[in-house]
Amino acid sequence: MKVVIVGGVAGGASAAARLRRINEDAQIILFEKGEYISFANCGMPYYIGEVITEKDKLIVQTPEKMKERFNIDVRINSEVTKIIPDKKMIEVRSSIDNKTYTESYDKLVLSPGAEPIRPNLPGIDCPRIYTLRNLPDTFKIKDFVDEMNPKRAVVIGAGFIGLEVTENLSHRGIKVTVVELADHVIGPLDYDMAALVHQHMKMKNVEFYLKDAVKAFTHTTSYTNVELTSGRTLKTDMVIMGIGVRPESHLASEAGLSVGKTGGIIVNEHLQTSDPDIYAVGDAIEVTDYISGNPVLIPLAGPANKQGRMVADNICGGNETYNGTQGTSIVKVFDITVAITGNNEKTLTRNDIEYEKSFTHSPSHAGYYPGSIPLSLKLLFEKNNGKILGAQIIGYDGVDKRIDVISTAMRAGMTVFDLEKLELAYAPPYSSAKDPVNIAGYVAANIVKKESEIFHWNEIGSINIEKSLLIDVRTQMEFDLGTIEGAVNIPVDELRNRLNEIPKDKDIFIFCQVGLRGYIAYKILIQKGYKNVKNLSGGYKTYQLAVQKQSNEDIYEYDKITKDDDIRSVNCEGTECNSIVADIQVDVCGQQCPGPIMQVYNSIKAMNDGEVLQVKATDPAFQGDITKWCERTGNKLLSINSENNTYKALIKKVRQTANATTSVARTDKTMVVFSNDLDKAIATFIIANGAAAMGRKITLFFTFWGLNILRRPNKVKVKKDIIARMFGMMMPRGSRKLSLSQMNMLGMGALMIRFLMKKKNVLSLEELISQAIAAGVNLVACSMSMDIMGIKKEELIDGVVIGGVASFLGTSEEADMTLFI
Ligand code: FAD
Repeated sequence: MKVVIVGGVAGGASAAARLRRINEDAQIILFEKGEYISFANCGMPYYIGEVITEKDKLIVQTPEKMKERFNIDVRINSEVTKIIPDKKMIEVRSSIDNKTYTESYDKLVLSPGAEPIRPNLPGIDCPRIYTLRNLPDTFKIKDFVDEMNPKRAVVIGAGFIGLEVTENLSHRGIKVTVVELADHVIGPLDYDMAALVHQHMKMKNVEFYLKDAVKAFTHTTSYTNVELTSGRTLKTDMVIMGIGVRPESHLASEAGLSVGKTGGIIVNEHLQTSDPDIYAVGDAIEVTDYISGNPVLIPLAGPANKQGRMVADNICGGNETYNGTQGTSIVKVFDITVAITGNNEKTLTRNDIEYEKSFTHSPSHAGYYPGSIPLSLKLLFEKNNGKILGAQIIGYDGVDKRIDVISTAMRAGMTVFDLEKLELAYAPPYSSAKDPVNIAGYVAANIVKKESEIFHWNEIGSINIEKSLLIDVRTQMEFDLGTIEGAVNIPVDELRNRLNEIPKDKDIFIFCQVGLRGYIAYKILIQKGYKNVKNLSGGYKTYQLAVQKQSNEDIYEYDKITKDDDIRSVNCEGTECNSIVADIQVDVCGQQCPGPIMQVYNSIKAMNDGEVLQVKATDPAFQGDITKWCERTGNKLLSINSENNTYKALIKKVRQTANATTSVARTDKTMVVFSNDLDKAIATFIIANGAAAMGRKITLFFTFWGLNILRRPNKVKVKKDIIARMFGMMMPRGSRKLSLSQMNMLGMGALMIRFLMKKKNVLSLEELISQAIAAGVNLVACSMSMDIMGIKKEELIDGVVIGGVASFLGTSEEADMTLFI
């Protein structure tokens, strides 16, 4: 049997080696139009960046070694220019002597790959404009960087290759600008996940333009101008085109083989083309999307290698079938890893597949073991049965194994319910007892089972504020650092005591930082009889990433950064950061918000003015949070830098915040209401309503006689001892029975006051109380006084919570004013 293979890299070389392993007698000829076979195309960007330092490491096999080990006739510099299927012949042209000859075959394997797209733009034919497909391209780019020492590079296209090149050119000290036509980088990601990549790229000083494209290049002798459709012009020393690849299917189509609408060669499940003696694999073919079954192009090395191997089996009498490509892929973007499997939202929508999604942010491994960093996981699944349709994961550590677990689960046709049950390896340095994949399974399973109703970040704009209440259940400190517009803050731990602030007739939208506390709050409210409650999937973190500015524009002039407000790096002013010795050091690595900020707050509180705190944190949100926290509290952020996925911040304590309790100036008010005099009660509620109208949080703490203001007017049947009954009879039952502190005149004074208030259009005390409750004023009845005076909870009006002295002290600590009435 004589097998001829076209293309000597991923698919072609795999097919050749496998064929030989199966059939020692076959004649195998491998044609490669370039100079190299079986090279590591995936490693090429890292050679440019000098992460891979030896050229030879990129060359996996040589023709000589292929001959020696596999007895394969490898012919490099030999382009197959024609296929003549009727005669089972090919035509080959040697680029060494430019001679053409023919070769016969029994079976032909096509693995010619895909070529980079180079659009026909004015000025594109210039040696400063590169594409990256093979080793000669790589060496050309690296030589240019080594010899010309360019300052600026423009990368067109923010796909896998574009971003790998961006990272590696940045490593070489080049300021890189990326131009991307879409509204986000890395096409297979969804926008909300790509937002994480955008923020990371900003941190890494990459300038990038989204929804923009190149329209022309103009050149001078020393630089190139890249003209964008937005009207901007980027002056650069070099350009890398990374806008995608096109399958090399012309040879096949010229031979009359079927080519699909995608431009890829059509193959059946055995990878045979429309001619059964001709097989095709790799980037050149159209594959079946594993999820939808539609024909698609997915140019990846894994599928190409597997297909090559499968074809060899089938040529040798096997019956292997290719079940489609899932698009499982992974890419390193500076310090983060981005991984994808299955379909994204765009594809599911296009294919009319009904889906739901969940966002989870889980630690890469146990938070208490050093180096734990959250990873963000988006899971897409069928709404009715939980079948997994896709996943996108972004993080610093452990992303690869999680995507592979989900990818494997998808191959096995698993559902989100299976993810809950997967038994995954755990010890603190590697994972948590509930792995991020299990957590994603729990969250998604709750959604499918309707045990948790969710809403998504992009639905917030359409919430009807009149009919709804948006509750931020994070701590007040987190709320102060940034929240969703229109949200009220009821921390989850206070929720049970503040139900009076949550109307039952409204739609309730809850959110926390990542979704977990929101879920707990959701469960509390549902069990308290609230009907229309939803929790924000992925929490504020997902929302905030998606709604902030995504692109990073105009930060570079030709040779310097012009503005860095979006870069957010802070460097020491004047003094060298390295020379500052911190007075206190705190390590909050592994902790997620609000842990790091709480630690900073507690440490700063205990420090003296002028002392410096050093904080090490791994939560990616820390950089933004600490910057904001320092701005708000007036403490000075001396520096913040990231190294090896760890942020190191130096913060100098500044006097003005010595007694600050959180990050913002306190505006809450508390009032201790001791008296049950009508005039004092009226004054109390007028002040409270006024402060509530100014947006302040008010707590009224009713103690001793003040409790009478809150009593119901009617007698309530409760069990009391004789003293309590006597007390009850002697004291005024509710607001209507209160007397004036002076000139009461057996009740006449009180009546006159009420009459005058009505005449002057001042609300009655009862109306003031209702208004205060509606405005969210906290009415707390002192439990100790109630006990002493024999007043039972049932005797108090609705909307009052019972609290102890700790409750009062807690609220007054948060307040800038406490009145005693
Ligand atoms: P190729 O490996 O491209 O091989 C095709 C070969 O055929 C070429 O050498 C070509 O010269 C030769 N050829 C074409 N026409 C003819 C002809 N008429 N006659 C003779 N020879 C011919 N994929 C991943 O999964 N992960 C990665 O990290 C990754 N990184 C990448 C980084 C870069 C810079 C590039 C360019 C690609 C990367 N890929 C990656 C994609 C991956 O390399 C391809 O999907 C894979 O190599 C496709 O294999 P193939 O055999 O179809 O084509």
